[in-house]
Amino acid sequence: MSEPQDTIFSKIIRKEIAAQVVYEDDLAIAFKDIHPQAPIHILVIPKQPIPKLDDAQAQDAALLGHLLLTVKHVAAHLKIKDGYRVVINNGENGGQTVDHLHLHILGGRHMKWPPG
Ligand code: IMP
Repeated sequence: MSEPQDTIFSKIIRKEIAAQVVYEDDLAIAFKDIHPQAPIHILVIPKQPIPKLDDAQAQDAALLGHLLLTVKHVAAHLKIKDGYRVVINNGENGGQTVDHLHLHILGGRHMKWPPG
């Protein structure tokens, strides 16, 4: 289990660095990815600094559910048409580069499978 880090996402939560926030509530915040991989690329993160999905515990179940419902809410709010992809990169082989749990929402184009 990883210890919570003070990452760039912590700074976004604390408004110490700018982000294009599209949604925020007491538990989560959603903002535009700085290097978009699709016409719409949003990150949904918990305000609680869980480093990665592997570090989530049973007591985080409601928060994890809230993050998924936040994805749905953001997608509806942004009027993403014809579907979208939700991605969680977990750990090094998963391609995770920021040690703060985040869900990618990718939309606005047709996604390929399998991903690279
Ligand atoms: P990961 O590779 O799944 O860890 O995704 C991290 C994502 O964070 C990448 O898609 C980055 O482009 C994005 N990112 C890193 N720094 C920032 C930032 O300051 N603002 C918005 N997105 C960021």
